[in-house]
Amino acid sequence: MMKRSFMPSFRTKEELEALQLEGLKWTVKHAYDGSPFYRQRLDEAGVKPSDIRTLADLKRLPFVTAQDLQAQYPWPLRAVPFDRIVRLHASTGTTGRRKVLVYTEKDIDDWADMFARCYEMAALTREDRVQICVGYGVWTAGVGFQLGCERFGALAIPAGPGNIDMQIQFLEDFQTTVLGCTASMALLLAEEVEKRGLRDRIGVKKVIFGAERSSEAMGARIKELLGAEHAFDIPGLTEVYGPGTGLDCVHHRGIHYWADYYILEILDPETLEPVPEGEVGEMVYTTLRKEAAPLIRYRSRDLTRLLPGDCPCGSPLPRHDKIVGRSDDMFIVRGVNIYPSHIDELLSRQKGVGSEYQIHLSHQEDGKDYMVVKVEREPGGDPSTDGALSRKIEKDLRKETLVSAAVEIVNYQGLPRTERKSRRVFDHRQY
Ligand code: ZN
Repeated sequence: MMKRSFMPSFRTKEELEALQLEGLKWTVKHAYDGSPFYRQRLDEAGVKPSDIRTLADLKRLPFVTAQDLQAQYPWPLRAVPFDRIVRLHASTGTTGRRKVLVYTEKDIDDWADMFARCYEMAALTREDRVQICVGYGVWTAGVGFQLGCERFGALAIPAGPGNIDMQIQFLEDFQTTVLGCTASMALLLAEEVEKRGLRDRIGVKKVIFGAERSSEAMGARIKELLGAEHAFDIPGLTEVYGPGTGLDCVHHRGIHYWADYYILEILDPETLEPVPEGEVGEMVYTTLRKEAAPLIRYRSRDLTRLLPGDCPCGSPLPRHDKIVGRSDDMFIVRGVNIYPSHIDELLSRQKGVGSEYQIHLSHQEDGKDYMVVKVEREPGGDPSTDGALSRKIEKDLRKETLVSAAVEIVNYQGLPRTERKSRRVFDHRQY
């Protein structure tokens, strides 16, 4: 069969910018004509679709936030009549109303192409067998992995989450080559494969983590236990179709993102001005061809930085770094802003610890904040070194975060495993 490519046709920055300008003009006009919400916002900002002449005009457009989506529940940002809408998805949002996003047939088609591009970026072939162990349902994870897999032409195994015995049986019987799952689920599966001594009887080469960021230590551990060659983190959000907004290539030098489908701005969350190149800021999305619920300067709260220069793979698709956290995940200890990803990254550089950890925050009797980090000892590690290890981590934490924390080393597998997202931060403070 002829190999079909899902990579973009542009080769240069100029070609990309021409595509983006065309998409931006279309999106603003489409949103203005089709959505009373956008029309009102644009009128308030004094911008007409015809005012968009260059990409620099993007900064004249007003922002959209998650609160805007929740306020318009159940049909936020809808810009086409219902007879053109073929599907809805909702985010698993834990607080307040769910974010509901609608899709036209073309939106679903575009999403399939975007996700198929992820598999191509990860250098899969049509011979690959992708075991999809994420949730199916109203959220976007399972259906996204599957849609992209079938569009790409690999074999989808829609296993869904949970049921470890069945998952292990599938790995062995179907000779799964690619796992699509949360990092927590992958660790659970990998440890089970290890426990049952099945590593030589399975054929997993690649793991694509969705819905949850993995730490480097966790990714390395999973690869080692499964005998896999590559681990990828798939970014995405329901507001921008779902998972599959980009992927790192096999060189793992950051995430190539699909700049022909959306414009990504990295802005200072306080001033809403662009951060200097290479600095961390909030990811703000403007879609270029999304019909049913277009996004204009949508503030995602996710934090990352753009990566300058070219990737060794030669792709013209620009890159952003791993998502380092959400501005909402940040917690404050003794006046210092801390992102769980920072602790995560610091721990993954330590020798002698495993991949699992928890952060506990409490108040001391004097009302001061108190932080305890529980970390697992590495498998087969020697408990007699715990004292030295915890002192070393405490020192590093103090140096890098400016906050004193107590570090407790616990037994390997002493912290709970879950098939879904692991909870890392436990705030016991009384306010
Ligand atoms: Zn690359």
